[in-house]
Amino acid sequence: SGIRFSQSEGPIEKLEENLGEGIEAKRGVELLCVVKAVLKKIKRRVLVGDKVLVGSIDWIDRRGMIENVFERRSEVLDPPVANVDHLVVLFSMDQPKIEPFALTRFLVEAESTGIPFFLALNKSELVDEETLFEWKARLRKWGYDPVFCSIESKRGLDSLQFLLREQTSVIVGPSGVGKSSLINALRGNNPVLGVQQDDNWLDHILGSKWLEDQRVGEISMRSGRGKHTTRHVSLLPLTGGGYLADTPGFNQPSLIKVTKQSLAHHFPEVRKMVEDSQAKKCSFSNCLHIGEPGCVVKGDWERYPYYLQLLDEIRIREEFQLRTV
Ligand code: GDP
Ligand code: ZN
Repeated sequence: SGIRFSQSEGPIEKLEENLGEGIEAKRGVELLCVVKAVLKKIKRRVLVGDKVLVGSIDWIDRRGMIENVFERRSEVLDPPVANVDHLVVLFSMDQPKIEPFALTRFLVEAESTGIPFFLALNKSELVDEETLFEWKARLRKWGYDPVFCSIESKRGLDSLQFLLREQTSVIVGPSGVGKSSLINALRGNNPVLGVQQDDNWLDHILGSKWLEDQRVGEISMRSGRGKHTTRHVSLLPLTGGGYLADTPGFNQPSLIKVTKQSLAHHFPEVRKMVEDSQAKKCSFSNCLHIGEPGCVVKGDWERYPYYLQLLDEIRIREEFQLRTV
């Protein structure tokens, strides 16, 4: 017979209180779940990484129903993952080579999530130490301290494992840089957690690591439902504890959360210039740092042209949005 939890639709804190004792006994059980209709109605999406309240549990068939979604610590929308602690921006030294503007887009996107991240550069064995040294110096001027790694030579894998331990991380970067290879190299034995979504709603979810932290886990999709696109996001367990999201198909930063005004804040160089000028601020509070009088942000830094290019892109997008509202 099943255990019923509170059916209340009340505030999240209430639900947390209602989780009584004795529940801990069910750790490690995986449940195939559906989402309660009322959650769909209020468009409360369930993301991989979410903590959820599961009720109507059938322990024999291992089925349940997701009745509520707990408040998120953080969320990444592209790929959709909840409660992310860390992002890893992964590029490679060669095959493909680092393209500075593409890297800048990824860094700006990572900055805009507000989630801590670091930059890792893979395939380090394909170039000489001098090239690595030069890139390190260059990236330090941008405000980043890269971790060099190589799946091939195993360089840096211990540091990465340490940096990612006990956390939920999302790895982003262009295709071909070694994201899947890195995930496989660091992968441990815990169950995989995942959510599969159809066009506008996910079908089935299997709650995994049940009640330890009720994360949304591996799924199976009803088959033969005709034409619809599916996107599958999974969290793969790491040897050092924690999870790394495998997100095939999400390798183009949309910069959707970045506005003309916020863009400059996503460049460490600008943050530093503003800090260094101490009390002095740009004369205009809405200064875009494109030569306005009294601007404290100079144009003598390597990525300034990229800043201008992204600013232009965002300006066009914002004008388009304005027209279509
Ligand atoms: P993803 O598209 O970012 O997931 O990249 P993959 O993990 O599929 O890797 C793309 C290619 O790069 C594959 O052929 C890998 O074997 C290769 N690769 C991954 N890591 C390394 C590395 O450290 N050195 C070299 N030389 N090749 C690598
Ligand atoms: Zn300015």
